[in-house]
Amino acid sequence: MVSGRHLSITETWEELTRAGEAIHPATVYRTLETLTAVGVTHAVHGPGPTRYGATGDPHHHTVCQRCGAVAALSGEHLVEAAARIEELTGLRPDSSGSFLVSGRCARCSG
Ligand SMILES: [Zn+2]
Ligand SMILES: [Zn+2]
Repeated sequence: MVSGRHLSITETWEELTRAGEAIHPATVYRTLETLTAVGVTHAVHGPGPTRYGATGDPHHHTVCQRCGAVAALSGEHLVEAAARIEELTGLRPDSSGSFLVSGRCARCSG
């Protein structure tokens, strides 16, 4: 899984299938659940299907309310915003240190 990308089970399965892997979607699901449990990947629960990303540099996520697309947002871009959010609302990042910012992606806001 490429760093910074967050794919659903279906998208991961489609990519593997295109790459010539004969794998069942249920196997993709079990593998991603296992990798998430041990911290190699992490799950993003947005409005769309759950998406999985590789756990590397700490990052926040944006999610499109319309199409469910998830993007990674480097933590360093959001240091001040994260501090303000916590100060103003008491909201803290989740256990993986991430905020989930919801809105409309570029494709859906046109
Ligand atoms: Zn992520
Ligand atoms: Zn969108």
